[in-house]
Amino acid sequence: MTDCIFCKIITGDIPSTNVFRDEQVTAFRDLHPAAPTHIMIVPNKHIDSVNMLTNDDEQLIGHLFTTAKQLAAQEGIAEDGYRLIINTNANAGQTVFHIHLHLLGGAPMQHPMG
Ligand code: 5GP
Ligand code: ZN
Repeated sequence: MTDCIFCKIITGDIPSTNVFRDEQVTAFRDLHPAAPTHIMIVPNKHIDSVNMLTNDDEQLIGHLFTTAKQLAAQEGIAEDGYRLIINTNANAGQTVFHIHLHLLGGAPMQHPMG
């Protein structure tokens, strides 16, 4: 997707602070962090949103979560706790239409959400 910010981050056309990369996913620090740790974990393949997922994507989406777990440990926030968020479309406030898992932590968060 030529006009997708996250596709450009994945190819290196837009600079980012990457924290993890493998053949399926890329993880980088959010430009406007909402918590001391705020990492975006994205599939290397473009998918607009959760609404566009197919059964073929199930392994990939599972891999986003195991990557998040690994990064939470790496960031030292696993024990204290963290939040994983995927926003979908307008009511949830999705602004970048390349599916992404937010990993947020490093300080207590408000609850409930929404
Ligand atoms: P959404 O609101 O779609 O769930 O989340 C999009 C996230 O992408 C926001 O937290 C925003 O700060 C982040 N973001 C938008 N543009 C860029 C960018 O160019 N670089 C990085 N690292 N993060 C970005
Ligand atoms: Zn994309």
